[in-house]
Amino acid sequence: MPCALTETNVLDVWENGLGSTPAGRSVLLASLAAPAGQDVAGLPLSTLNALLLHLRSGAFGDLLPCVTDCPECGESLDVTVAADELRALGAGGTAAPGPGGRTEPAVATLTAHGMDVTFRALTARDVQAVDPGTPDARRQLLLRCVLHVSPPADELPDEVLEDVARRLPGLDPGADPVFTLDCPQCGHRWQAPLDIADHVWADVSGYAHRLLHEVHALARAYGWTEAEVLAVGPLRRRFYLEASAG
Ligand SMILES: [Zn+2]
Repeated sequence: MPCALTETNVLDVWENGLGSTPAGRSVLLASLAAPAGQDVAGLPLSTLNALLLHLRSGAFGDLLPCVTDCPECGESLDVTVAADELRALGAGGTAAPGPGGRTEPAVATLTAHGMDVTFRALTARDVQAVDPGTPDARRQLLLRCVLHVSPPADELPDEVLEDVARRLPGLDPGADPVFTLDCPQCGHRWQAPLDIADHVWADVSGYAHRLLHEVHALARAYGWTEAEVLAVGPLRRRFYLEASAG
């Protein structure tokens, strides 16, 4: 199982992700943990999340520190989420990354307004294809899930698409993990979404920035090139950083 987020590629990954959309970044990051040749953009979102969790656990550990504000009183909450809790919510719980995981979005059929509508779970490719800034972005996204309508209809009513939307979380549990949080200040309880790709991207950004600062400090102190600094292992680099600062 490749799980490649290392000092040797993190700067390239960060640079590639910078110019990308959030959906593009999640595909870029998940690809690092996917088997070679896997069509990551076509995976169901829960499997994509499983790959992201796998990548993050390997590179940064199993705990995700989150900071969020209570929507009622504004109190800031520090919450630490374990990767296992996310897996239990269905973020790849049944879909271990790799050949054994679910690689095709699940399909279901519902009947509404006299129509049988066959639809599938969302993939990252769907999210990438729809500009979130367009007024009917939600409708476009839902239409991408619809595979077949019987009897055929020129245009699907919004109510039918909303029926599809209500069924999507059940079709792909773990696609959009949410947590129940309790505010210790005012007692308010609410459901907070957790975007795993956002987390991994923040970690990658932090990692890349630390590395760039180290390159900068050592290049200035010793006249080394970036490649020369990165060729020195992290332990020895720390020694040189301390020595040059002292
Ligand atoms: Zn509160």
